[in-house]
Amino acid sequence: MLKYLGVIGYPLTRSLSPAFQQAALDALRLDILYEAWPTPADGLQTRVTTLRSPTVLGANVTIPHKEAVMAMLDEVDEVAGRIRAVNTIVNREGRLFGYNTDLQGLMRALRQDGGFEPVGRRVVIAGAGGAARAAVAGLLDAGAASVTVINRTLARAVSLAKDFRDGGAKIPVGAMPDERRSWEFAMRHCDLLINCTPVASGDSIQSPLPLELIEKRHFVFDLIYDPAETSLRAAAKGAGAEFLGGLPMLVYQGAASFELWTGREAPVDVMFGAARSGVEAGVGKERK
Ligand code: NAP
Repeated sequence: MLKYLGVIGYPLTRSLSPAFQQAALDALRLDILYEAWPTPADGLQTRVTTLRSPTVLGANVTIPHKEAVMAMLDEVDEVAGRIRAVNTIVNREGRLFGYNTDLQGLMRALRQDGGFEPVGRRVVIAGAGGAARAAVAGLLDAGAASVTVINRTLARAVSLAKDFRDGGAKIPVGAMPDERRSWEFAMRHCDLLINCTPVASGDSIQSPLPLELIEKRHFVFDLIYDPAETSLRAAAKGAGAEFLGGLPMLVYQGAASFELWTGREAPVDVMFGAARSGVEAGVGKERK
C-alpha cells in the first residue's frame, strides 16, 4: 500500500524538502510519496489529525508551526522539549511522536562539513528563534565554552538564555541587544558565529551584524542555504575566515527525519544532489 509523508508549513510555496526527500525514498525504492502540505494556522489541528491515518508515516514541520504543533502531539522527545520546537512527527499506530532533528543536522554539518569542533569554543548566535534554540542546545551538549545570543527583539534572546540557564546550563549563556556595541564586544570574544536569522539571504548589503567585525580567526556558519551566496559568505571570504552555508544542515536534518520514519539509513549523497539541484533551479526560495 502506498504510504505518505509531507511537510507542514505556511506558505510553503517553494520548499526543498519534497524534492530531496522524494529522491531519497525513490533511491531506496520505497513505496512512499512525500508531499508539500501548506497549512495555515487555523488548519493546523485538522492537518495533524490526518497524520494518525495508517497510510501516513509522519511529517516534517516548518515555519510557523514548529512550536504550536507540540501541544497537538501525544509525546515529545527530550531534545525537542528542551528546544521547544518540533520539526519531525512520526505516526506510530495512530499515536504521534514529536522530534527535533535540527539540532542533529546543525551539529553534524558543523563537525563533518565545517570541520569545526565546538568543545571549549566561544559562540555568538544571531537570532533567538527555533533554529537558535536548536543551536544553543547542541552547543551546550557539545561542551562549548560560552554562548552569547544577539537578537533584534532583546526580550526573546533574554528568555532563550534564561530557559537554558534554568535548564541547568553549565556554561555562561548570555543575551545582548542587536546594537553595534554588543557586536563589537561579542565578536572580540568569539570563535564561532552562527547566523540563525533570515537576514543576509537577499540583498548583499543586508547583514545581521556589522560585517567589518568578521576576522580571519572567526568561523562563520550561516544557516541560510538559499541563496548559496550571502553577505556573510562574502564577508567571511573577504576576511579570510572559514565559512559554512546552510545546505548540509538542511540535508542532515532531513536525513535524520528520514531515518525516524523509515528505519533505513538515509542516502545523503542522493539528498545533497537533489537539494543542490533545487537551489540551482530556484525551488527553495522560501524555507524548508
Ligand atoms: P524563527 O523562529 O522565525 O526566528 C527568526 C529569527 O530571525 C528571530 O530571532 C528574528 O528576530 C530574526 N529576524 C527575522 N527577521 C529579521 C530581521 N529583518 N532583522 C533582524 N532579525 C530578524 O526562524 P528559525 O526557524 O529560527 O529560522 C531562522 C533562519 O534559519 C531562517 O533563515 C531559516 O531558513 C534558517 N534555518 C535553516 C535551517 C537549515 O537546515 N539550514 C534549519 C532551520 C532554520 P525577532 O525575534 O526580533 O523576530
